[in-house]
Amino acid sequence: MERIDVDDGFSMHEYRAKLKLLKDNGDTRILEHRDDLGCPSCGQAFDRLFVTEHRTTSFDTPPDRPFCLARTDEKLLLITH
Ligand SMILES: [Zn+2]
Repeated sequence: MERIDVDDGFSMHEYRAKLKLLKDNGDTRILEHRDDLGCPSCGQAFDRLFVTEHRTTSFDTPPDRPFCLARTDEKLLLITH
């Protein structure tokens, strides 16, 4: 399984064919995983990928499933499984 590589940043365009854009607020995006990419943190298959360029972010409710976090110099990623 190809794992998302965040060593040199993260660009959804690199994985465009395997991720479906569900929500786009300009600097915050939610992507749905639709192929066989591995989580950048644990390498396992995942469900959704939340990406923000903000330094901080808040959630009203916690994900109801296991999740991983990853960061690049510019982005914060939350991956739900
Ligand atoms: Zn993971």
